[in-house]
Amino acid sequence: MLSIKNLEAGYGKVKVLHGITIEVPKGQVITLIGSNGAGKTTTMRAITGMIKPTAGDIELDGKKIAGFESYKIAKLGLAHSPEGRRVFSTMSVTDNLLLGAFPRLTGSRPKGDVKHDLDRAMDLFPRLKERRNQLAGTLSGGEQQMLAMARAIMLNPEVILLDEPSMGLAPILVDEVFRIISRLKSEGMTMLLVEQFAAAALNVADYGYVLENGRISAQGAAESLKNDPAVKAAYLGGG
Ligand code: ATP
Repeated sequence: MLSIKNLEAGYGKVKVLHGITIEVPKGQVITLIGSNGAGKTTTMRAITGMIKPTAGDIELDGKKIAGFESYKIAKLGLAHSPEGRRVFSTMSVTDNLLLGAFPRLTGSRPKGDVKHDLDRAMDLFPRLKERRNQLAGTLSGGEQQMLAMARAIMLNPEVILLDEPSMGLAPILVDEVFRIISRLKSEGMTMLLVEQFAAAALNVADYGYVLENGRISAQGAAESLKNDPAVKAAYLGGG
C-alpha cells in the first residue's frame, strides 16, 4: 500500500534520514519507534511532502509520490495527523472535520458520503461530538490532538500517518487514543504510527521498525520486537 525505499531527507545541508526502507501493507498497523531526534517526524514529513526527499522512492498504491506537493498527496488518499495541536483554532470542531474531507472532494478518488463520515468521526470521538460547535482553539490540548486525528480520518484515506497521537495526553486519554487506533485497525484501516509509548504501539501494531540516527537499526513482527532484549532495554523501559 505504502512503500518507502532508501529514503533520504533533511533540512538544508543537514541530512537526517540516511536511506530508510519501510513497507506498510494494506490493512496493517506499522509502527516506527526511536528515541528523540532519531528522525521519526522527519520521515513523516518526507512522506507527506512537507519536506522534499533528496533521494529514494515513495509509492502509494503503486504510484510514485516522492517530491509531490502535500495537497496532491492528500488527494491521492494519504492522511497525516501531525505531531502537536495542528487545528484551525478559530473554526468550530465540525468545520475542522469538514475541512479534513476537502481534498477528497476535489481529487479523483470516490467522494463518498461526507455526512456519514462526519457522524462516524463523532462516534469514534465522543468528546468531539459533545463539543462539536466549540471553537477548536478553546479545546484542551488532548482534545485538539484528537481533533487532528479525527480530521485525518475524514479524508477517508488509504493510509493514515499518525505522529505521536498520544503526546501530552493524560493517561486516560492515551488509553482512549489506543482504543480508537485498535478500532480503526479492526475496520481495516492501514496506518503508520509513530509513538513515544513504544510498548503500547507494539501492542497494537503488526510490525515495527526501530529508527536510530536516521537509519533503521532493527525491524520485525511487533511480537518479536517486544521480546527483543536490545529493544526492551532501549525503548520499553528495561528488563
Ligand atoms: P522526537 O521524538 O523528539 O519528536 P524525532 O525522531 O521525530 O524526534 P525529528 O523531529 O525527525 O526526530 O528530528 C530529527 C533531527 O532533525 C533532529 O536532529 C532535529 O534537530 C532535526 N530537525 C527537525 N526539524 C528540523 C528543522 N525544521 N530544521 C532543522 N533541523 C530539524
